[in-house]
Amino acid sequence: MLNIGCHLSSSKGFLAMGKDALKIGANTFQFFTRNPRGSKAKAIDPKDAEALRSLCQEHDFAVLLAHAPYTLNACSNKAETRTFALETMADDLERMEYLPHSLYNFHPGSHVGQGPEEGIRFIAQTLNEILDVKHTTTVLLETMAGKGSEVGRTFEEIATILDKVQLEHKMGVCLDTCHIFDGGYDIVNDLDGVLESFDRVIGLNRLKAIHLNDSMNPLGSHKDRHAKIGEGTIGLPALAKVINHPQLRHLPFYLETPNELSGYAKEIEVLRNAYEEADKG
Ligand code: FE
Ligand code: FE
Ligand code: ZN
Repeated sequence: MLNIGCHLSSSKGFLAMGKDALKIGANTFQFFTRNPRGSKAKAIDPKDAEALRSLCQEHDFAVLLAHAPYTLNACSNKAETRTFALETMADDLERMEYLPHSLYNFHPGSHVGQGPEEGIRFIAQTLNEILDVKHTTTVLLETMAGKGSEVGRTFEEIATILDKVQLEHKMGVCLDTCHIFDGGYDIVNDLDGVLESFDRVIGLNRLKAIHLNDSMNPLGSHKDRHAKIGEGTIGLPALAKVINHPQLRHLPFYLETPNELSGYAKEIEVLRNAYEEADKG
């Protein structure tokens, strides 16, 4: 079965997201741990978290994916910005234990002129401070489009961060199809080649989730503007190959396309129809 969901608003709480996911034919979802711009988090209602956990169990959901605020920058040139990212992520990881064994994705950040090496050093340092053996969450680095001074555009940069993290088994990667295409990896004409390179540089065993997005811009544009599935430069045939690829088809896929719930429901239906069930023969 295709494990697929989309980004949902967490404003009505955990259980409400689970119900929204069911409504649109999803069996997982992504949500922001707090306001995406990074403000103070609402207190978690343990009963609400527990209600979502039972819903997920009852409906056989795939792993849930939490997303850190995208404004955090663990490799800023300003110490206070780095500290804010560290404290926010540390707090998020504590809170994630209300939904144990989930995934937590974050953007590596922007080195703002310090150079990728310095950026990578700060990111790894942050991870080494916040990761704790007692946590059950797997923390994911998201592959980026390379807008401005973003770190994580190349598989090499992601691999170098992972190499510097002590609790490496707590870490994984979230591959965003729009980001890597904008970053210059041609998943339209050479998906196998891109995955070979991912495997050689990072290791496909580190790949834990896929953000399934079309792109508004051409290969290598370094833009990061998501398009609806089938309406962008990647297109439905290439995205259908992604979800069916023997090395990817078991992974959870999360849509971050510009949609309301009804639009997500349609995309999920299209993708479920494009997914070749193994038992169909
Ligand atoms: Fe993201
Ligand atoms: Fe993404
Ligand atoms: Zn993006």
